[in-house]
Amino acid sequence: MIRIRGLRKSFGGHRVLDGIDFEVQPSQVVVVIGPSGSGKSTFLRCCNGLEQPEGGRIEICGQTLVDEGRPLAEAGLNALRQEVGMVFQSFNLFPHLSVLHNVTLGPRKLRNLSRAEAETRARALLEKVGLAHKADAMPASLSGGQKQRVAIARALAMEPRVMLFDEPTSALDPELVGEVLQVMKLLASEGMTMLVVTHEMGFAREVADEVVVMDGGGIVEAGPPETIFRNPSQERTRSFLQAVL
Ligand code: ADP
Ligand code: MG
Repeated sequence: MIRIRGLRKSFGGHRVLDGIDFEVQPSQVVVVIGPSGSGKSTFLRCCNGLEQPEGGRIEICGQTLVDEGRPLAEAGLNALRQEVGMVFQSFNLFPHLSVLHNVTLGPRKLRNLSRAEAETRARALLEKVGLAHKADAMPASLSGGQKQRVAIARALAMEPRVMLFDEPTSALDPELVGEVLQVMKLLASEGMTMLVVTHEMGFAREVADEVVVMDGGGIVEAGPPETIFRNPSQERTRSFLQAVL
């Protein structure tokens, strides 16, 4: 679903991603961990075209997003973005639109669904994330956990083939983290391909097929959660895990 070779990205002469090689297979859940500033968000943003890398190759769902640092034309980029859903730490709901409208907007504008069709699908997705009763609520009236579940429903409404999550629970009060992780577990169990940056090590242990450790703009090591958590091969992994566990 995702194949990356030699990905490089700098900001103002500062190398943030330094030759990343990486793959995600269909229905795999890959969790990315690593210290703050190690390039995790930049990496995810490259995977849906929010950042333009200067070198390397990114293929998503068999289409080339970036080749030797050269991006797809805008039309291709927009088509590909529809295959890749993204959920951010900060929810990013449209504050002036109801929950239902937040979820129907993308499919109506970009997929030309009729209002009735878009609403039927949106209600089913809100049901799935446990928020059918909040369809007519405004975002400001929701808890952080509810907002993030709406954001997930909104991303799913575009019927993506891959979902990217960038620290989806980091802005939440601790008691609200579980309800969001629960929805993510449900998606994983349904076979969604997922790339998740998180500090929730319990989620990584339980749900990840593979854990990737990033530090200093590179992949330090990668492997099944049992190996990474019980028997990491790299000192940098051990010191990071000691700091967070
Ligand atoms: P992480 O998500 O692992 O904390 P980021 O990908 O956000 O790491 O950031 C990696 C590095 O890139 C940091 O040093 C950060 O300051 C820098 N960086 C990220 N985005 C930008 C940007 N838009 N402009 C300049 N520097 C950036
Ligand atoms: Mg980040």
